Formats: sequence, C-alpha cells, structure tokens
Amino acid sequence: MKKAIILMSGGLDSLVALGYPQSDYGIELALTFDYGQKALKQELNAAKAICSHYGIEHKIISLEWLKDISKTALVSDNDIPVTNLGTNDSAKAVWIPNRNGLFLNIAAAFADSFDLDYIIFGANKEEGATFPDNTEEFRNLISKVFETSTLKKPKVIAPLINYTKGDIVRIAIDNNMPLELVWSCYGSGKKHCGMCESCRHLKNALIANHKENYIDILFYNNDEN
Ligand SMILES: [Zn+2]
Repeated sequence: MKKAIILMSGGLDSLVALGYPQSDYGIELALTFDYGQKALKQELNAAKAICSHYGIEHKIISLEWLKDISKTALVSDNDIPVTNLGTNDSAKAVWIPNRNGLFLNIAAAFADSFDLDYIIFGANKEEGATFPDNTEEFRNLISKVFETSTLKKPKVIAPLINYTKGDIVRIAIDNNMPLELVWSCYGSGKKHCGMCESCRHLKNALIANHKENYIDILFYNNDEN
C-alpha cells in the first residue's frame, strides 16, 4: 500500500478527497495552512474534526506572511464578494497568490522527508473553470516538477478533478462521509454565510442532491440573518 499526504482546508472538497474510495493508497498525514484567512478558526476546527473522524494525523503550517502580500477579501478587511458564480471578477476577489503551488510544494517537502508516495488535493471541475491552479494541466505540471525537485518524486493526485460540486456531494453521501463537519465558507461566522461563492456552490450542490437537512445544519437560516 502506498502512503499519501493530503491538503486539508476543512471544506467539502478536502473532506471528499480524503474519504474518496480507493484501494491504492492510505492517507497518513493532513496539512492545513494558516495564511491569515478570515475563516482560519472555522477551517481548523473542521479540519481537526475531519482528520479525527478518519484517524489521520493533522498538522498546521503557518504561512502568515502570505496575507501581507494578498490584497483579496479572503484575508483583507474587504467584504467577501457576492457576485455571479464562476466569473473572473469573483475569482480575482478571493485569489491568494500561488496558493495551491505553495501548498503542494510544502506537501512535497513532507513527502520527500517522510517517504510518502502521493499528494492528494481536492481540485475539482467547478473550481478548475474559475481558478487556474485547480486544473488538470496544473496538477500534471506540478507533479512533473516534483520529479526533479524531490528525491521521492511524489505524484500529485486530484481524485475529484472531473467532478462538479453536485457530484462531490453525491460521493460524500454514497460513502457516509460526515458532511456536517465541513467548513466551506469564506467568512468567519458561527455558521456558513450562504452568500459567498463557496457557500452558494455548496448550497446548490446540497439542493441538487435533495439534502436540505445539511443546509439547516451548516447555514444560517433567514431568521438568524
Ligand atoms: Zn459563505
């Protein structure tokens, strides 16, 4: 059995990338990054709960400097944008410079040191359409880079790359994954805001799968707003 490390934000995609049924590898370690994001506390709670559910070691990596060179709403005082889904403007508003490139390179350093064969991350079809570092091309190229930048040559795997958020929720349900543990919101409320792009993707995917019960668990209802 090969050994793997996973990027774990605590969101829907990282939960399902972690629980995705496969027989080729076992995930040993999960990394969550602190880059000064507004949702850090919520993301850490979700990531810890998900890792403990699956019995996987969890580490927090500090990249606090990243917020100083990011102007976007995920880390700044700007409001999280409420824009049309999947547009360039909404992507730019939440862009963190070279985020997945940095995260995967750090995971590759762990893989190189701890003899791990695979790096798993939750890139998927919907975000691939908006963010260039969520595409198959990116996954393939960065995997190639690790053939020369590491001795272990870990392969980058994105098990959800061909799936939409609707598909990803369905995979979670079919495999009894703990959807109630995720934090996918860009904001830092007690519950998911329901307004930001990430929330709207999750909400639509839950509705498409007739899982409105999770909307009640994860999101503010209208009265609370
Ligand atoms: Zn939100």
